[in-house]
Amino acid sequence: MNPYFISAVINAVFGLKRTCPKCKRDQIVPASKKRESVRCNFCGADIPPRK
Ligand SMILES: [Zn+2]
Repeated sequence: MNPYFISAVINAVFGLKRTCPKCKRDQIVPASKKRESVRCNFCGADIPPRK
């Protein structure tokens, strides 16, 4: 597989990964929510977008 493709996939996945400030669980947020706060799937807290 093309290594550039692999790194692009890794960046996409980790760029959308957020850690909840309340319960500290990692989750992947949709690309459409990248610049918005999302609700934690586990505890319901708001997770702000990464700076
Ligand atoms: Zn949480």
